[in-house]
Parts: sequence; structure tokens; C-alpha cells
Amino acid sequence: MSTESQIELEQLSKFAAIASSKVYTSHADLDPKDHPMQEMLDWCEKQGDIVVMRSGLILSSNPSSRSVQNCKIVMGGKGLRAGKVVPTTSALVRLLLAGAKDEEADKHLDPTSDPQSVSLQQQRLRMLVAEGIREQISDIHLEVREDATYVRFRRHGELYLHTEWPARVGREVSAVAFNRETDHAITHFNPLVPQNASMPLHIEDMDIRLRLASLPAHGGFDVVMRILTTGHEQSMTLDELGYTADQIKLIHRATQMPYGTVLVAGPTGSGKTTTLAACMQMISDDRKIYTIEDPVEKLISNATQVPVNTEKEDRDFAGLGRAALRMDPDVIVLGELRDEDTARVMMRASITGHLVFSTIHTNNATAIVTRLVDMGISQNLLGDPNVLVCLICQRLLPKLCLECAVPVTQSAAHQPNLQRWAEVFGDKLSQVHVRGKHCKLCNHTGISGRTVVAEVIWIDEQSRYFIQKCDILGWEKYLKEQGWSGYPDQVLRLVSEGVCDPVDAEKLIGDLSALQTHKMIYGTTAKMAKEYSE
Ligand SMILES: [Zn+2]
Repeated sequence: MSTESQIELEQLSKFAAIASSKVYTSHADLDPKDHPMQEMLDWCEKQGDIVVMRSGLILSSNPSSRSVQNCKIVMGGKGLRAGKVVPTTSALVRLLLAGAKDEEADKHLDPTSDPQSVSLQQQRLRMLVAEGIREQISDIHLEVREDATYVRFRRHGELYLHTEWPARVGREVSAVAFNRETDHAITHFNPLVPQNASMPLHIEDMDIRLRLASLPAHGGFDVVMRILTTGHEQSMTLDELGYTADQIKLIHRATQMPYGTVLVAGPTGSGKTTTLAACMQMISDDRKIYTIEDPVEKLISNATQVPVNTEKEDRDFAGLGRAALRMDPDVIVLGELRDEDTARVMMRASITGHLVFSTIHTNNATAIVTRLVDMGISQNLLGDPNVLVCLICQRLLPKLCLECAVPVTQSAAHQPNLQRWAEVFGDKLSQVHVRGKHCKLCNHTGISGRTVVAEVIWIDEQSRYFIQKCDILGWEKYLKEQGWSGYPDQVLRLVSEGVCDPVDAEKLIGDLSALQTHKMIYGTTAKMAKEYSE
């Protein structure tokens, strides 16, 4: 790469940092609905020595010229807020204004064979991930199509359009991500077949890991990048995650058991790994912990963490689990219970006197038993007092931004549902809030984060009896009699306290008024927690 383009790249990233927002390198980078910015760029192109960023930042190679003053006037006329004026080189202005024109010509080039393009796209990828981390998102979706690449972010479970790129840029960034940045860089990115990879990145003093997956689609392909490790998530406690005090008591008790199995269930992306990491923090330092993970996500200070390699037979969950059992462990974490083989390793570890943790995909806590039976584990074995200790199932529910939430009774849009919800919440309806006009504090999403809604079951003797008979209905009835609270009770409580939007609640558990039979039991796992706490 020439020295001049090196300097340009450095400046580009420097100004991107100042603007702390996107650097638009071409017209095609703009939101098509964004007419004023489009016109502004056309105007800049005519001047030749000035360029405007979406943040309002003005870059000029000739700051004392009239064009700076004119630019501010033109921006004002279009309702755009003019920001700081930053002097720059004419080369950078040209670089920022150019782009769209030579897109066609570049289309057939192999992006990974051109070093300048590679380092530009590597930078673009890093900037995108850095923006994602700043916006506290969990996933980046690149939807690469013939005409454009749509970049969407998922934050607090919801997907929104972050920006658009030219199609070429999406193809290049994807290729660079898979070919240059991943752990197994030998894999050659092929958009025509589904591919997976894992990528370590050091961004803004944080060691993060991206899990990449691609899927061919009509007219292009998708790449989804999940951001796995960020510093602030690491130290979350069960309390901060949203578990109730009674539930925490039961889970704490489980982590102190000498042997047995603790299972954390929930759909994909419901934060099961974060919960497992919080459980590990509760385990005393005199116990040796082995975790088998795919991949290692959050660093756990008191554990030996072993990554799974699905390409090698003896290095899958079951194989490494068996190997860990020979390493004099006290506690074993099997990242995910995917198959019968792994389930058998879990049972064996548990029966031979180890405390085992794992995660499993089910929608509620009692279903864990049916799922294990489906995997080929016998009911008799599951009912053995040495095996199941505690079953946890969790989901995530968006939390309202308290700054802009409005009482449901004052929201015109929610009037059609008011009667229905009034029947559920009675005089507590006045405390129920919904997403409001959105504000700066919540990034105009109306939500401030997510809370765990969980079911926690301590397996007592009576429960083991129901498990051996695989009588789930009878078991649930027994649990409710004990004052146990499932999802509906937890969700109703959060909505009635004004923490969560009833619309989000219904997305999770369906029509709230259909739950009336529950009669607002705000009972918790209090009785069970009391019985089992020392
Ligand atoms: Zn807000």
C-alpha cells in the first residue's frame, strides 16, 4: 500500500472516531430515505473541498474558504444541524466523496487479493463492531443482496436497520471476516454454502469474540455475527439478571451440593451462558471446575475452560466431558446438552459424585424432564436422588425505559386492549406502563434493557416421584400447591409493577386475559426456598 493511502486510512479512522458515528464514503452508503443528506453530498461534490458527515461534522481541506460558511447555511436550509468544522487534506475529501462511481468496475475483483481493499474492509468491520458494542447490541446481521447490503443490529432482542452499504462492500467485509480474521483462517468463504467461524477481536480495550454464521439466500446471502464477550456482561449476578431473591436462594443451595445435576433451559439467545457463569461465581474456590464450551464465551476466573472442536470426534461435548472426568474434577459444566451421548456423560458424572451443570433447549422448566426422556435417559434414572437437583428455565423480557414510558390508560394506541387488561390487573392497571414517545436515553427504542423471567424448581422427594412416573401435569399441580410460580406469574408481576410492557409480555406468554384462572398469584417460590434454606 502506498504511504499516501496509508495516511488516508489513518485519517479516515480518526475522523470516524471523532464523529463517533458512521463515515459515509459514498452516496450508496446513505439511507435512501435520507434526502437532505443526499442533496448535501451532491452539493459537497460540486464544491470539491468539503464533505459533511451524518453526525453534522464538516470536513474541509480549505477551512477559511467561503464554502464552509455556505455549507452551514445550506445545511440549515435543509433542517440539518451543522457540527464542528475539522480541517483535513483534499485527498481525504476526495476519498470520502468518491466510491459509488467505481463500484461497478470493482464488482468482479476478488476482494481478498487486493491488500488495500482488505485493510479498508478490516477497518470497516472493526468500526462496525465497535459501533455495535457502543450501542450494546448482541448481533450484527449483514444481508448482502444484489442491489445493496442491509446492516441490521439486534439490541435487547429487537432488530433494527443500522445502515446500508453498497452490495460490494457487504461481500468484501464478509469475505475478509471469514478469510482473514477467523481462528481457522484456512476456510475459504463461500457464500453459496452455510459456513461457521469464530473470530477474536480486540476493540476499545475489550477482548471480544464474534461467532460468525452465513447462509445463502435468494439474491445473495446473510452473515450473522454474534458478539460473545463484552466486559460489562461478565460480572452480572443472578440478582442483576432479574432472578428473584427466592430463586437465588434455591440456585445458591444447588451450587453448594456435592453432586447432582443442575440444568438451565431456555430458547437460543435467552442468556443461559450468562446464568451459568453467574452460578460458577457462587462455587467455592476449593472445588475444581472444568467447563466444556463451544466456543469459550465468558472467561470464568475459577474454572479450567476447554473449547469443543466439532470437527474432531474425540473433542465434542461428550468426548471432552469423559476426558474431564479423568482430571479429578469436582464440578463439570457441559456447555450444551445436544445429544444422547452428552446426556449419558452428564448422568454418569452426576452418579459418580460430581456436580454437573448444563444447558438445554426447552420452553419451560418441567419440559426439561420430557426432553431428557426423549434423549433416551430413563425416567427411573432421572428420578434417582443422585441426579436432578435443580431445574432452571429462563427467558428475557424487555424492560421499559422509565424516562419515556407512559401509563397504559393514557395511551391512545392501547385503548382497544384496555378493557381486556383491566380484567387482569384490576386497580393495578393504573401502574401498568407501555413504551412511550422514545427518548435519547433509550436510543429511541423505548426500552432500557432486558430482565430474566425464570422458573426455578428444586427437585424434592415428591417431585422425583412425579418424574419417575413422567406425570408432568400432576407435577405442575403439586408445584403450584407449594406456592411455586411459573412464567405467567412472573410476567404478570413485572407488568403490574410498570417494569415491562404488556405488549411484550403477550409476545412471550400469549393473551394475558387468558391467564385469569391464575388470579394474580403473586406467590413466589417462597415456600420452597424456606424449606430448603438452612
Ligand atoms: Zn426512553
